[in-house]
Amino acid sequence: MDRAPEIGTSGILPRAEFPRLLEALRAEGYSVVGPTVRDGAIVLGEIRTDADLPIGWTDRPDAGTYRMERRSDEALFGYGVGPHCWKKYLFPARDHLWTARGGDGGLTIDPVEPADPPRAFLGMRACEIAALGITDRVFTGGPATDRSYAHRRGRILRIGVQCGTAGATCFCASMGTGPGIAAGADLVLTELIDSSRHRFLLTVGTEEGARVATRLPLLPAPAEAIVAADAIVARTARSQGRRMDPGGLESLLAERLEHPRWVDVARRCLSCANCTMVCPTCFCHTTEEVPNVEGTESEHWRRWDSCFQLAHSQLHTTSVRASPRSRYRQWLTHKLGTWSAQFGTSGCVGCGRCIVWCPVGIDLTEEVAALRVAPVAPSGGAAR
Ligand code: SF4
Ligand code: SF4
Repeated sequence: MDRAPEIGTSGILPRAEFPRLLEALRAEGYSVVGPTVRDGAIVLGEIRTDADLPIGWTDRPDAGTYRMERRSDEALFGYGVGPHCWKKYLFPARDHLWTARGGDGGLTIDPVEPADPPRAFLGMRACEIAALGITDRVFTGGPATDRSYAHRRGRILRIGVQCGTAGATCFCASMGTGPGIAAGADLVLTELIDSSRHRFLLTVGTEEGARVATRLPLLPAPAEAIVAADAIVARTARSQGRRMDPGGLESLLAERLEHPRWVDVARRCLSCANCTMVCPTCFCHTTEEVPNVEGTESEHWRRWDSCFQLAHSQLHTTSVRASPRSRYRQWLTHKLGTWSAQFGTSGCVGCGRCIVWCPVGIDLTEEVAALRVAPVAPSGGAAR
């Protein structure tokens, strides 16, 4: 293609030409990361060739379980979402933020510039693109910008893939965050496989995406391919295994702080923090100082933390949220309620990871449904 395609236009990339997309990304200076198979799961890692992708694999997530299975075709993106989310590249689990140095000249603070290369995120799902919009607001949308996040975020290219399979734990359709990708990606792919052809509908979302598309041997997109892509998205939305009505949750949760369901869920919750580690929008962290033995300098590190950890709410000598009940309630009421006042949207995009990777299968869609049912007033007194 000689001229850069216009934003919003689509073309067909035959499967046989898919390696040209990886070459084009590298030619534009990006290191490519995307889905790959490791340890029985589809996780994010470096993509050097298309053979690194989960060709012919799908996943079977459900509450507290995850399995991979072979597909009957050679789809590259024929799965939902695995345990990893893209935040690990933008907000790493451990991040050296600055080093403080003391000496005769006084104290100096030297910020650490992240050394990460520009990255192409290949295979972002609609819910993950929505989650990126949320973490952008958290880290860069307030009066102070997080330098480390902003540096990495400014160097990524987002290649979305519209979902063609729905997991039993997916509910992005009901949250309004997927499975179609309307905005927020530089390029959008829809994988089209039928008995005789394997191809991708590629749609340009931004000028950066157009630069990559210029390097590709795209064919004109026939109307039937666009219809087929829309049909895939509609079928995926219909077949999602869960749903959650986000309407009115902020006020509902504020009214139900003493609902008996919090006691019920606390009996099951292990406070393991898995749900927050796999959630694409959870951003709780703590900081560590690592001094050298001479005591002349100290490295300041940020590390993922969780509101399920007792120490996370420690003030002076005590933890403000000492019980599993108070910690689960804090997580859910923030994620689905007070997050809206703080950041303007729900903190949940319906990816379902917290359901899958909870070792006891706690399902926030079930918890919310239970909380919607008004508690029965004890005889002789009002319900609280
Ligand atoms: S709360 Fe659960 S379903 Fe919602 S975005 Fe986080 S991991 Fe996904
Ligand atoms: S809800 Fe599940 S994943 Fe989250 S802390 Fe409790 S047991 Fe762990």
